[in-house]
Amino acid sequence: MAKKVLILPGDNIGPEIVAEAVKVLQRVDQKYKLDIELDYAHLGGAGLDAEGSPCPAQTLAKARQSDAILLGAVGGPQWDDVERHLRPEKGLLTIRSELDLFGNLRPAIMYPQLAHASSLKPEFVSGLDILIVRELVGGIYFGEPRGIRTLEDGQREGYNTYKYNESEIRRIGKMAFEAAMVRNKRLCSVDKSNVLEATVLWREVISDMAADYPEVELRHMYVDNAAMQLVMNPKQFDVVVTGNMFGDILSDTAAMLTGSIGMLPSASLDKNSGGMYEPCHGSAPDIAGQSIANPLATILSVAMMLRYSLNAPEAANAIEQAVSVVLDNGLRTADIQTEGCKLVGTVEMGDAVVAAL
Ligand code: NAD
Repeated sequence: MAKKVLILPGDNIGPEIVAEAVKVLQRVDQKYKLDIELDYAHLGGAGLDAEGSPCPAQTLAKARQSDAILLGAVGGPQWDDVERHLRPEKGLLTIRSELDLFGNLRPAIMYPQLAHASSLKPEFVSGLDILIVRELVGGIYFGEPRGIRTLEDGQREGYNTYKYNESEIRRIGKMAFEAAMVRNKRLCSVDKSNVLEATVLWREVISDMAADYPEVELRHMYVDNAAMQLVMNPKQFDVVVTGNMFGDILSDTAAMLTGSIGMLPSASLDKNSGGMYEPCHGSAPDIAGQSIANPLATILSVAMMLRYSLNAPEAANAIEQAVSVVLDNGLRTADIQTEGCKLVGTVEMGDAVVAAL
């Protein structure tokens, strides 16, 4: 039976990088006879402009019927003045929450060819391979009540709610322990349990779960320390599990350790391993339309899609290998450019990966 993949190009550089990833997907489809069927829909600013909503009903309906989704990125200053509920980023939060994509896997892998692109010394980052498992549909980004209210004295007050219940913690914990089991069996749970009650419960539940995974070495770390340790000694980490907001921040820090956010893929999974795959970066309005964006994070997101949702690990490995070959051959987009390498644009980089396949 055909596997349905929904493509959401999104905004700004989104369509540019997604076009390259689709070429790569079509190449492996042909090579490994995967029988993939593509469909397209709008999300973000593109959804708002074309259909009046950042997450149109038709997009959600198509998403529910697909085996996997590939997203470019959403957002940009074009939509700065629209009402909050119509903002492009709201479309992203809506699709994640409607599809219950609670488990966000964000690998931060240092390609040896790019060790000099990191802001840290090569000896701190060479061989780096961290997996951040971030809870994606709960915590303070979704907690109610929330808003901006006027107090009795007339001044305004902004407020949000940080909460996690036991089952929400348990399902992301399970994803993280299982990921650790197939890696180096080390899990670090990040919280702020010295201050926030919600994370006292987080720590208790994750600790209880450790009994089911005796081979995994579990430790806990406060988020402020984790931020410091990530830049001081990043190779101490294997799998990191944390809530939505801390994961948002730490995964961007981990991204920069690897040299460029343009290299990092991500997967957002539901309980049946259906999921949405997207680069970790945003829509980069500052470089949109110039065909200079790095498409590799999106191409590597296709590899994650093949591995986690489409049960095609061979094709996934082939894409990762092809990216490595292209880097070995010295091709670089501007964000990862170093002396002596050949500067290429978005399309040339995509073509090179297809050729290496
Ligand atoms: P960004 O990730 O878009 O850009 C940060 C910097 O990284 C910019 O200098 C940009 O040029 C560069 N960059 C990003 N991707 C790149 C690539 N593939 N190749 C080369 N350089 C790249 O973050 P931002 O500027 O804070 O946000 C821009 C817009 O994207 C905002 O509207 C934001 O809300 C949105 N955003 C969307 C997502 C998403 O769709 N998942 C994630 C983050 C931000």
